[in-house]
Amino acid sequence: MRVDVFTIFPDAFTGPLTESIIQRAQDEGKIRIELHDIRSWARDRHRSVDDYPYGGGAGMVMMAPPIVEAVEEVVGRDSESASVIIPSPSGELFTQSMARELAQSARLVFICGRYEGIDARVTELLHGREVSIGDYVMTGGDLAAAVMIDVIARLIPGVIDEESLADESHTSGLLEYPQYTRPHTFRDLSVPDMLLSGHHARIAEWRREQSLERTLSRRPELLEQAELTETDRRWLANHAASDQEAESCRIDRAKRAELPHDASDVEE
Ligand code: SAH
Repeated sequence: MRVDVFTIFPDAFTGPLTESIIQRAQDEGKIRIELHDIRSWARDRHRSVDDYPYGGGAGMVMMAPPIVEAVEEVVGRDSESASVIIPSPSGELFTQSMARELAQSARLVFICGRYEGIDARVTELLHGREVSIGDYVMTGGDLAAAVMIDVIARLIPGVIDEESLADESHTSGLLEYPQYTRPHTFRDLSVPDMLLSGHHARIAEWRREQSLERTLSRRPELLEQAELTETDRRWLANHAASDQEAESCRIDRAKRAELPHDASDVEE
């Protein structure tokens, strides 16, 4: 896969893209990442890449010409042959399934904004896809692009072993079960006995239940899209029922506590 990143801070990528698995993937030729400084396409001698917003308001906006000309020169006028991603807090949400889809592309382009963002015509002219990595605002698109490249790169065949991808968080739509390693006991906390049983089928069942429990309590909305078996559904139905029971007991207790001590006296 070839990845071209357009930025005014190429140094922001040193570290995220030059360590560990991502560096190894580059050394092995599985992914080639090229950084391009948008300022090299600036039109004036001050190398300006931003200007005041039309319509007024705070901050500066990145201009379209240097960006569009940079991408056209590096990627070619037919940028449709590449997927152009424009990190933006108002874009569609980046997810594991979007990453799987993008990992199929032969060429990806990232255009990193700064300041108040990028002139909207860039998205239109380059057939870009605006993508947000979460509901918060960062100072620039560089770290967002690095996050997406990291997620996509590890899905390229051979970058990490297939088994690690199989049952991690978000692969089947559930969160991963808790993991433990040595020592067996640390500060009075021991590893769950089940994991020492050596019984693979029961361990797999326990882990599945832990995944379901975590997802139900931390991210229940994920369950709507998750790939669930009949056993999962039964487990969830039982748990949702017992959660509801616990909740209604709690409400009953709270109501009783609010009533006068001898409720029968009041009723008479
Ligand atoms: N004025 C903009 C925020 C600009 S933040 C607004 O209110 O929507 C500056 C740049 O940071 C953006 O152009 C984008 O490249 C990047 N950025 C900020 N938050 C992001 C997020 N959650 N996901 C992806 N990119 C983000």
